[in-house]
Amino acid sequence: MSPLQFDSGSQVLNVDRLDLRKGFMQASRPRRANRCRELGRHHQGNQTFLTSLEFLGGCKTIGRSAYLVENKQGAVLLDYGAAFNGHPTFPALTKPSNLVVALSHAHLDHSGGLPLLFAGGSVPVYMTAITRDLTRVLLEDMQRVSEYYLPFEEQEIERLLRRIKVVEYKEPVELDSGFRLTFYDAGHIPGSAAILVEADDTSILYTGDINTINTQLLRGAEIPARDADAVILESTYALTRHDPRGEVERSFIETTTEVLDDDGIVLVPAFSVARAQEIACILNHYNLSVPLYLDGLAREASRVFLRHPPFFRDYQLLRNALNKTKWVQSRSQREKVLKEPCVIIAPAGMLKGGIAAMYLSHLMHDPKNAIMLVGYQVEGTPGRDLLEKGTFDDGLGPEKVKARVRFFDFSSHAGQDQLLELGASFTKASHLHTVHGEPKACEYLAATLREQHGIDAVAAETGMRVEL
Ligand SMILES: [Zn+2]
Ligand SMILES: [Zn+2]
Repeated sequence: MSPLQFDSGSQVLNVDRLDLRKGFMQASRPRRANRCRELGRHHQGNQTFLTSLEFLGGCKTIGRSAYLVENKQGAVLLDYGAAFNGHPTFPALTKPSNLVVALSHAHLDHSGGLPLLFAGGSVPVYMTAITRDLTRVLLEDMQRVSEYYLPFEEQEIERLLRRIKVVEYKEPVELDSGFRLTFYDAGHIPGSAAILVEADDTSILYTGDINTINTQLLRGAEIPARDADAVILESTYALTRHDPRGEVERSFIETTTEVLDDDGIVLVPAFSVARAQEIACILNHYNLSVPLYLDGLAREASRVFLRHPPFFRDYQLLRNALNKTKWVQSRSQREKVLKEPCVIIAPAGMLKGGIAAMYLSHLMHDPKNAIMLVGYQVEGTPGRDLLEKGTFDDGLGPEKVKARVRFFDFSSHAGQDQLLELGASFTKASHLHTVHGEPKACEYLAATLREQHGIDAVAAETGMRVEL
């Protein structure tokens, strides 16, 4: 066992990269006190436990998801994500022998650390086919736009891509270490999976990021493993009830129609993977005939989507929607787009750079236009400032935005009602740990499942380890 962070390749690191490595070691060192308390709680008499679960990251926060399941023969790492608070950080990991990785989905808070596992080493990584292609797009973009030195380069991404083993939903994969992995559709983004890990007469279900309702783009999650012995449950929207999807869609269409009737332009800053295409599908589903433009990384993600029909609820709807969309390719095209009433879909979803910020600086001064935010806006992002203060800083200081600003809750995560219903259905679980949410969200979900449904639920802490 050697600490992954320094196991090889260190001779080629420059000073900045060493600093970054120090940063993520400090940021993610396991908390001893919690680990001991948790071990004590679950250890009974002289019983020998065969399988353990360790929470390496993604606890009481969103970012750096990583959960390690180990037995005597090997280990399964569920996700290995990055966090982007200032500079990128990654979960601390002492690489066990006979390790394989199972990736729930392509988002960087789950996949952003994977290339680190290929700095001087190599492990098999299991994921769905579309997750492989989307992970490539997002990791290469992370590499391209990072303002910080990353502790990996293109060659580590290439080595990762070569070791990916594609899995099908609901088809179990048997590993040499005795573990069995089964992926189930999680309904969050195309290819997203809840992962069931079985070994030594015990089973652990990791929900990944999950959405239980149908959207225009995707089918809701399919989770048959309700008899799992242990569950890792995401908590993103444990404190929020989503409005019924149809109402949100109709309100979005009404506002868009109003703005266009006033000769205005609608800018939809949207995440490149899934949200941008979901908006295109909604406009198509409601037959809104309007010039529609797609820009930035959303084009690349759309190309990947079109190559993988089975992952979509209604592939024909997706294809029609993207066929009617004009893909903006150049600066001169961008200038033309801004001259007529239209809808522009462009990343980044929280206006943190990206092409959407460029469009906004042109559109913000005219009250006829509208900025329609369609995803969660993290505190401290330009999108959150726009929502709360009505201002945008295009590099010359914050300025009042005269265009209309609206928010539509097109979440790709289960809301409070769905999370409680899902959590309460794991009646046989002897451990349920809530993860992937603000501290209050993780704690509320665990407490409610405990007090109202009798589930042994705890909000996980980074460094916590439980024996199963
Ligand atoms: Zn996600
Ligand atoms: Zn996530």
